Amino acid sequence: MTTAVDHERNAALLSWYAEHKRDLPWRDVGDPYLVLVSEVMLQQTQASRVVPFYERFVERFPTVQSLAAASLTDLLAVWSGLGYNSRAPRLRQTARIIEDEGWPKTVDGLERLPGVGSYTAAAIASFAFGEPVATIDTNMRRVVSRWNGEPLDGAAVQVAAQTALGEPSAAWNQAVMDLGASLCLARGARCWECPVADWCAGPDSYVPPMPQARFEGSARQLRGAIVRAVVAAAGTVQDLAGRTGFPAEAVQTAIEDLVGEGLLVENDPGRYSVAE
Ligand code: SF4
Repeated sequence: MTTAVDHERNAALLSWYAEHKRDLPWRDVGDPYLVLVSEVMLQQTQASRVVPFYERFVERFPTVQSLAAASLTDLLAVWSGLGYNSRAPRLRQTARIIEDEGWPKTVDGLERLPGVGSYTAAAIASFAFGEPVATIDTNMRRVVSRWNGEPLDGAAVQVAAQTALGEPSAAWNQAVMDLGASLCLARGARCWECPVADWCAGPDSYVPPMPQARFEGSARQLRGAIVRAVVAAAGTVQDLAGRTGFPAEAVQTAIEDLVGEGLLVENDPGRYSVAE
């Protein structure tokens, strides 16, 4: 049950948000499709990097129907550079299901769509359908843990966030995310500027996650380079090694993975192109 402390904290939080909210193109769009696209792009990718990709993507594929009808080559041409390319065909698969069956009406139904986990399902339910559900991502877990004075995870963070949830849920969820992104940082929280410091136990209870693996020289960088090269033109392992600058052996292994994931196909023997 929401307490008097939650009410006071939420009032301070929402008034801070009204003044300081980040200007992001998917904010307050209210369209489940646009929320879906932005949230899938934001999985494992920072908001500032997502903005230009999101704008290009929704210009090229403005509706569920246009995405459902897209070829994988066209899709990857717009997605490529954002990384984790397998998200793109999954998103198209989701669009095809929605085109056939309509939008699921519950968080559980949304969660059954390909590539839609519990966070993304809650985000669509809250941001597009106005459902009173907390959207628990890394930022919210950190902020709510600090409010409660202990690290919270799993069901405990669900209960704590859902109990603290203010109205409207979309503004409250986005306010917590913005607080986590701008003041309640993983390291070096700026508590002296924080609007809810009076109702918080402070930053010490939160244990920061391990930093993300280096991108330079990673398998992720190699896979991204191969997809970009194949979108431009089909090629052999040797050809793609030459065009990407990676060793042929590593390119061969990455191509086998990409074929296994359904992103690439071997049309002629030894020659790879984008699957359709
Ligand atoms: S007071 Fe500090 S720890 Fe608490 S929410 Fe604000 S920034 Fe985070």
